[in-house]
Amino acid sequence: MFYRSRSYWTCSKCSRRHFLKTASWAALGLCVGPFLTSLSCALASEGKDTTAKAKKHAGSTTTGLVSDDRYLSHTLGEGHPESPERLKAILRQLKSSGLDKATKSIAPSVDPISYIRTVHPEAHINRIAEQAHDESICRLAVSGVLDAVDAVCSGEVSNAFCAVRPPGHHASNRGEHGFCFYNNVAIAARYAQEKYKLDRILIVDWDYHHGDGTEWAFYDDPTVLFFSTHALYAFPGTGAANKTGEGKGKGFNINVPLPRGTDDKKIISAFTERLVPAANQFRPDLVLISAGFDSKKDDLLGDFAVTDAGFVELTKLVMSIAADHSSSRIVSILEGGYNTKGLALAVESHVKTLLGT
Ligand SMILES: [Zn+2]
Repeated sequence: MFYRSRSYWTCSKCSRRHFLKTASWAALGLCVGPFLTSLSCALASEGKDTTAKAKKHAGSTTTGLVSDDRYLSHTLGEGHPESPERLKAILRQLKSSGLDKATKSIAPSVDPISYIRTVHPEAHINRIAEQAHDESICRLAVSGVLDAVDAVCSGEVSNAFCAVRPPGHHASNRGEHGFCFYNNVAIAARYAQEKYKLDRILIVDWDYHHGDGTEWAFYDDPTVLFFSTHALYAFPGTGAANKTGEGKGKGFNINVPLPRGTDDKKIISAFTERLVPAANQFRPDLVLISAGFDSKKDDLLGDFAVTDAGFVELTKLVMSIAADHSSSRIVSILEGGYNTKGLALAVESHVKTLLGT
């Protein structure tokens, strides 16, 4: 396979290049840190609690679904894992399960360029115009996400899932990075703050890879709480637990790096022990999810072992936070996920849960 993306990193310890999937944990001699040491028995009661809240929420839930056939025309080249097949598989699955009809269709319509500029410098935008197969599709991904913010913030739907390509959470100021062009979730946060005057936005990123672009966008900003679970020594090599923000943003960046093989129990524990208390203190007005499903078992570019049931629990936990603080407003945005069958089933579970079913 040939990749034109610079989606690898060179390890300072073994001097090898690692392509997105994690480096050999043992070879690097890494310490996973104290965050994995305890798994609380409070998990069981937390699970019951979030289920109850999800049920309570279910009666009035309408979930929006952003999709557009033009997202299928974006390509990084033949054989690339970030392929149109990912989205085709998702749409097929949502159709076969009836979730396409159970959700409210949202089409991209917002002109996003002025909002793209709230996150990315002009030089980045110019580079994307040169690098992308079709820059207008990258822009259309942002557009769809902003329409989802409109639908959620106007009360048209309770929450929304954005089946968009290309993904965005690695994008910062240096052109295409990790298959990402424009940082959809970061731009959505700025859009919600500007258009709807929301004070505090929570971004939850459960992609296998650290959302370095999102961290970059808000590292000194106390109005956006960024929470990320990821494999520390996978691409892009960022996301250390001691990176907690700077200046006024100190404490508003929470990285929870996890070891290879991370399963439902471990990732749910990270959410209950680290995300839930921080979110309760932060009291977000809107919750955004960087929904990367390459953290699922058997992904081509990841080595976590999260199952569909695990994504259901993570979704419920985020819904519980949103129910408590943000009038249940959630916009979930597709990031990674490269085992097309696994990805499609995980998205089905996620969207079903968002619907409250
Ligand atoms: Zn990823």
